[in-house]
Amino acid sequence: MHKITTLDDHWMGRPRSIGTALLESDGHYAIVDPGPGSTLHTLRKELGARGVSVGDLDALLLTHIHLDHAGASGALVRENPRVAVYVHKLGAPHMIDPSKLLASAARLWPDNLAELFGEALPVPESNLRILEGRETITLGPRKIEVAYTPGHAAHHVSYFEDFEGVAFVGDTTGVRIEGHPYVMPATPPPDIDLPLWDSSFARILERQPKRLFLTHFGFSENPAAHIAQFQERLHRWMETTEGILQAAKSDEQAMACFMATMRAEIGQHLPAEEVEQYVATAGLNLSFLGLARHARKRAQAAASVSKTTS
Ligand SMILES: [Zn+2]
Repeated sequence: MHKITTLDDHWMGRPRSIGTALLESDGHYAIVDPGPGSTLHTLRKELGARGVSVGDLDALLLTHIHLDHAGASGALVRENPRVAVYVHKLGAPHMIDPSKLLASAARLWPDNLAELFGEALPVPESNLRILEGRETITLGPRKIEVAYTPGHAAHHVSYFEDFEGVAFVGDTTGVRIEGHPYVMPATPPPDIDLPLWDSSFARILERQPKRLFLTHFGFSENPAAHIAQFQERLHRWMETTEGILQAAKSDEQAMACFMATMRAEIGQHLPAEEVEQYVATAGLNLSFLGLARHARKRAQAAASVSKTTS
């Protein structure tokens, strides 16, 4: 029996915001991105509805360690101490000791961190399987290849399974709620890096996956068209952000201008209630902060080059 199932974590009571993929292969079970601590009860229910318990899980495959993807990992290990937790080497220290991760999350969500993401317990080092990319994980007879796909986060990996040709890409190919045509960037601080991100698109496409699975949310059936649309939009949003930063008198004004501009763009593609779903799921205000940080780094690098050449 081989199956891939989408589990809806109903984050903040909203369907199709955060999804966990359940992979089953001849009685072996893995999940990709268990989601945050705040939706652990929903995950348990979703698994139970498929006749699977937390104790049945052999592996957690983490695309990256952001709380909306990996926050529940420590609690799952506590419940099932034999589960293996796969994570990139740059993310691993923050799974063992999440205090820095939680401190930086508290800066981004000062008012409601616990409500949004719940608890993030540490993962014992002995449960971690450290990845760099190019590994092959076996789940029963199924083989899952790992590729290093930074850009959204420096420690982001994607997983490619060989039975159905599905690529689990986390946030590398943006936010696209299953069934909708619009693909939206999610670019929170501090790691956003467009040149690295471009190389990750190439790394995904060269494996010719048949379908993508996005944490936000679900399957996308045409990987090449999806990535082409996303890559073009990501670079355009970057340029728009640079223009806004140059024209704005303050950071507050720049953020307000960015939010209004992007909301208007999204509204051209989606009905009003879906616009809000996208904006909340991706954290549009955080996307501004991440792009602005990258823009300033680019400007500084350009300034230091022109100084040394003049
Ligand atoms: Zn995410």
